[in-house]
Amino acid sequence: MSGLTTALLLLKQGVAVTLYEATAQEGGLAGSYHSEGFIFDFGPHEFCTNNPALHELLRSVCGDDLLEIEKCTAQYFNGRYVRYPFEIADVLKNVSPLLCVRALFEVGLARLRNLFKKPPDDSFKAWAYSRYGKTLYEMYFGPYTEKVWGIDPTQLDPRTASQRITVDSVWDLIRRTVGYNLFGMEDFERAHSEFRRGFYYVRGGIGMLQTHLRRAVEEHGGRLVFDKRLTGVTRGPAAPPASAGSAAAGDPAVGGPIEALHFEDGSRAEGFDAVVSTIPLPVLIDITLGEAGRALARVNRLPFRAMVFVFLRVDKPKVLDYHWTYYPDLDIPFQRATEFVHFGADMTPPTRTGMTLEIACDKDDATWQRTDEQILDDCLVAMERLDLLTRDEVLGADIVRVPYVYPLQVMNFLEKADALLEGLAEVPNVVSIGRQGLFRYCNMNECMEMAIDVVPRLMAGETSIRCTTTGTWQGAGVIDTPDAVTGGVQTTVQDTVQDTDTPSPR
Ligand SMILES: Cc1cc2nc3c(=O)[nH]c(=O)nc-3n(C[C@H](O)[C@H](O)[C@H](O)COP(=O)(O)OP(=O)(O)OC[C@H]3O[C@@H](n4cnc5c(N)ncnc54)[C@H](O)[C@@H]3O)c2cc1C
Repeated sequence: MSGLTTALLLLKQGVAVTLYEATAQEGGLAGSYHSEGFIFDFGPHEFCTNNPALHELLRSVCGDDLLEIEKCTAQYFNGRYVRYPFEIADVLKNVSPLLCVRALFEVGLARLRNLFKKPPDDSFKAWAYSRYGKTLYEMYFGPYTEKVWGIDPTQLDPRTASQRITVDSVWDLIRRTVGYNLFGMEDFERAHSEFRRGFYYVRGGIGMLQTHLRRAVEEHGGRLVFDKRLTGVTRGPAAPPASAGSAAAGDPAVGGPIEALHFEDGSRAEGFDAVVSTIPLPVLIDITLGEAGRALARVNRLPFRAMVFVFLRVDKPKVLDYHWTYYPDLDIPFQRATEFVHFGADMTPPTRTGMTLEIACDKDDATWQRTDEQILDDCLVAMERLDLLTRDEVLGADIVRVPYVYPLQVMNFLEKADALLEGLAEVPNVVSIGRQGLFRYCNMNECMEMAIDVVPRLMAGETSIRCTTTGTWQGAGVIDTPDAVTGGVQTTVQDTVQDTDTPSPR
């Protein structure tokens, strides 16, 4: 997404571009998976934007394949499906009144206590607990967060909470729910808001957006080379130092630009002015800075959460009524299920549906290492238990493991990413962008906005561009930086990651 958009915008400015991709097809995380007449995305991919320039780009690239879809999602909560955004009748039907009263009472108590002595927001848990109380934390936020991120929520940077749970309190939730249900009030402030009915999508799956982008890149004379995994670079000598006698002068290991790219298959590429990278930031640091980079990455460790995707081909017209559904319970192996028949985008054969189940894990952990058969069996056991389907309704399944999915927002992750990007600044002709490239939990629209932001800067001849704390992507929000976070770190962060409106991951 980030690479293709950057390539297209550069080509439109008359710059020659070659795009190297490690896999055999375009798309990355926002690609689609095709199997026996079914099309699956890697989890739900709703495209949302408030940016007119981006909307224009999207429409020009996708043409009539751009769809507008009215969203319907749910949470599996306490054994029942509850629509989100909440619908009053649906909540009354599916959530016990006693539970509602208890949760509201706790929230009231928490707010009263916060008036006198507010506990510090020094972790995800502290942030969510002090706003939502014990019951909601223990029934929903705690288990769901642990399931997705794989670490104790006390170890997650509190900015993860303020970034992901933008409904700041239960009162805010009630206010918005009533406004949305009774008066049709949508939230147009943020690009991604659950209190917004529609999203953009593309006929044939979100991967078609990448295919349209690829075609546009090719039409503009861009070159795409697949199966080219970058594994090394050659750097040239540093520019003459401002002060004579500097140790860096003429040392090819320090301060010099990238002159050649080396790929896994032994080939190389040279003869370019600049490199825009969207590969994971720690990998780029390793490749470009060598041992010094590895040392920097050890001090500023930025782990990624991996994912096992289960693509199910189902022999019935539908399983549930929702585009996607969240499952916080720890005894259900997947945390989200997406059903593609509801997208109206020609992704399933007639009378059948396809589902993606997401299982967050760490690369090489016990889940990652289970065989495909075991993973499928785990899912089917759970689905039968949930009365979703029976085994004989499953025509087949594919299991795909992806190592870099969620930048894991450990304590001070923004400062750590900043330190790595600072280190990269010694290479004047490389810029790192994208979800993995900036270690940002960003959406597709922000990826495109990074490209919109960075291309004019490249055209203006800027070097050492670092999209760190000052990106100007439209629609990007500001992460609240609780006081507790800034203690002991170098920078105060006003960041540029998009706010989303739900405790759910993208
Ligand atoms: C489960 C899930 C749900 C999501 N839902 C939404 C949503 O609803 N809405 C939304 O807007 N966004 C959503 N997103 C986010 C969206 O998918 C990403 O923001 C976007 O796809 C990131 O694009 P990117 O180009 O920055 O990174 P990537 O898609 O990761 O692309 C990086 C590319 O670099 C290639 N690469 C890696 N290493 C090398 C190497 N060494 N050499 C050459 N190539 C290499 C990779 O193969 C890949 O193609 C979701 C993401 C996930 C995982």
